[in-house]
Amino acid sequence: FDDLGADGAPARLGIMGGTFDPIHIGHLACAEQAREAFGLDAVVFIPTGIPAFKRDRAVTDAADRLAMCRLAVLPNRHFDVSSLEIDRPGVTYAVDTVRALRAHYPANVELFFITGADSILSIARWRESAAIASLTRFIAVTRPGYAVTDAFKAELASLGDYDVSYLEVTALAISSSMLRQRVHDGFSLRYLTTLPVCDYIYRRGLYRGPGAAPFATA
Ligand code: ATP
Ligand code: MG
Repeated sequence: FDDLGADGAPARLGIMGGTFDPIHIGHLACAEQAREAFGLDAVVFIPTGIPAFKRDRAVTDAADRLAMCRLAVLPNRHFDVSSLEIDRPGVTYAVDTVRALRAHYPANVELFFITGADSILSIARWRESAAIASLTRFIAVTRPGYAVTDAFKAELASLGDYDVSYLEVTALAISSSMLRQRVHDGFSLRYLTTLPVCDYIYRRGLYRGPGAAPFATA
């Protein structure tokens, strides 16, 4: 969506950041529902390079996570993937990404940062979160297991002046951790992510535990 907004008309771009290790239907469904609810022209999925908050765990090769994202979004013409963060050396900070996108698009393109309810509170921990907030609006989608209570909202408000819109999306109690665990244990990922992503994981032998039988994709 390089030329989004080039005609001068107002446009809206959603930014969906994540580790996507691997991407799953929870990510896809919340991006689609945010797109519909906020009239976004497009949503760009941006897999992190070295995530700032997941340095404790070995994250799958960026090239694999990127490839899986590309396979997953292919059928949706409103979705795209950017390797912006992966191509940047060093630890990933969301503020750098948002600044790069803001610099790339004309002012008539409004940016929306889409995150799950579990991630929104950690905004405060993000480097230069106030700068992000001044460049984008936030869409916080509901996520099973992470209740958006009044206390939650109050805590967020106490951390800064964030323009957050809460969006109720179809509850899908799934996570990348859960998918990795399933493959590790020899179980299938069918219907939890897209079939091309299942095939990719199978062919590349990702997440497989020692001695576990490869899961069947068909
Ligand atoms: P992990 O278990 O490795 O943390 P994850 O499923 O949380 O993986 P991430 O890549 O960490 O996936 O998440 C990217 C973004 O998608 C985050 O903002 C997260 O809150 C959101 N998200 C992930 N899964 C869901 C879900 N099932 N429902 C709503 N939001 C989700
Ligand atoms: Mg997560």
